[in-house]
Amino acid sequence: MPVVTRIAPSPTGDPHVGTAYVGLFNYALARRSGGRFVLRLEDTDRQRYQAEAETKILDMLEWLGLQADEGPGVGGAQGPYRQSERLDLYREHAQRLIDGGHAYRAFETPEELEAMRLEQRRLGLDPGYDGRGRAVPADEQARRAAAGEPHVVRLLTPDEGETSFHDLLRGEVRIPNREIRDPVLLKSDGYPTYHLAVVVDDHLMGITHVMRAEEWVTSTPIHVLLYRAFGWELPTFVHLPLLRNPDANKTKISKRKMDTSVESYREQGILPEALLNFLGTMGWSMPDGREVFSLDDMVEVFDVKRISLGGPVFDLKRLRHLNARYLRDVLDLETLAERLRPYLAARGLAAADEDYLLDVLDVVRPRAETLQELAEQAVPFLVERLGYDVDARRRLAAGQAYLEDLERAFAALEWFDDDDVDELLRSYVQRQAVPMGKVMMPLRVALTGTTQAPGVVDLVVIMGKERTLSRIGQALQAISEGLPDDDPDRLKAEAEAAAKEEARAKRRRPLNAAGRG
Ligand code: GLU
Repeated sequence: MPVVTRIAPSPTGDPHVGTAYVGLFNYALARRSGGRFVLRLEDTDRQRYQAEAETKILDMLEWLGLQADEGPGVGGAQGPYRQSERLDLYREHAQRLIDGGHAYRAFETPEELEAMRLEQRRLGLDPGYDGRGRAVPADEQARRAAAGEPHVVRLLTPDEGETSFHDLLRGEVRIPNREIRDPVLLKSDGYPTYHLAVVVDDHLMGITHVMRAEEWVTSTPIHVLLYRAFGWELPTFVHLPLLRNPDANKTKISKRKMDTSVESYREQGILPEALLNFLGTMGWSMPDGREVFSLDDMVEVFDVKRISLGGPVFDLKRLRHLNARYLRDVLDLETLAERLRPYLAARGLAAADEDYLLDVLDVVRPRAETLQELAEQAVPFLVERLGYDVDARRRLAAGQAYLEDLERAFAALEWFDDDDVDELLRSYVQRQAVPMGKVMMPLRVALTGTTQAPGVVDLVVIMGKERTLSRIGQALQAISEGLPDDDPDRLKAEAEAAAKEEARAKRRRPLNAAGRG
């Protein structure tokens, strides 16, 4: 029998990293076994339903590359794949259970149920439905329902004994039947509850492996009772470990404690490959221990039995480090440029010159952890005119004579390659008999507007003659224009503060502002 897996997210908000996680493992299992991966939208909770959440789930799966073989928008033999479009099926199946004596119609009003709860509390009994509706004879149930009296349909569950099921990772899981209190299957508005819909759909859609988050473990015995009542074979159940916060108590990840929205990671510039790779290390690892692996790598060797249950920690720092490795080592420059484009566009930048952009990315990528950071660092290379802050202008002014000399020297230089640029700068500094940094810092500022940038030789080589000269020119102009909008007192104070900071920084690290960084 071919393996069929599924994810069944509810479109109730921003797609959660947990959905991506469960999606990845279901996808991997289906692909590994040459089976099918189904997407079903569980949208029967109409209070929490959000139309845009549905689109976001589809977008997320596409972005991650977890394509479903069957689902909304894809189609498939067992559709529709939105539960709200399958209501007749659930009603039919509820009727089937009633007819077989496995379910009954219950007519208690909300007030009656509330009174029952209060009474239970007063007597110190476990809260939950006490089964009072069972006493209404079947023909009376049918008559009252036909007369239009509001009611729900409840599953008739055993009071004694226990219900157990086998979880592929957890082994035998048992629950005393007294904890299962005739759960509602069909609500008074005619919508199914999760329990009925999930069982009917998993069965009709031919799901062989129900692999979902740990929080559903306690619902599974109800599902088992339903499978039995229908006379259906059970699927294999796998409950994945919950993702945890990196806090001391390792609580379940939640919106309050950390960012759980896939969309937000995407906006920050986390790559889909890196997010998948990261999620793939949650309770799972490559047999050879490799940390960086692709979706295909994972699929190739995926084995459900190797999932470990010790609460995997969703550690943002690790995600960012992994993302940095993808930016630095895994993606080729062309792909990186492609991925970066929307982030540059958001800053109003479009790199007309593709080769230039690739050179820029080559030098800045070792320092970025996200595409946002990469874009930020590429900005000084791509803008037409730089802005100089107080510190930058002070450094420019201090290096004015050097900049003038270098402007002439670069204008006369024919080849802007590493060796020639390096040689020019070295011999110039030697002739001036000053420390490297005295010359390099103003040049760096002139070229990028910032003091933190890649090595100066790299900068000059990448920017090339025209850009280098134009930027030195702009910088000299900025100096000679004076600083009309500046209040001299404030400037002085700022410059003093900056000088102090520089002296402090110098004490912390050996001067290495020059050369390649
Ligand atoms: N709709 C449920 C959810 O949002 C699906 C649970 C299951 O996979 O059975 O997680």
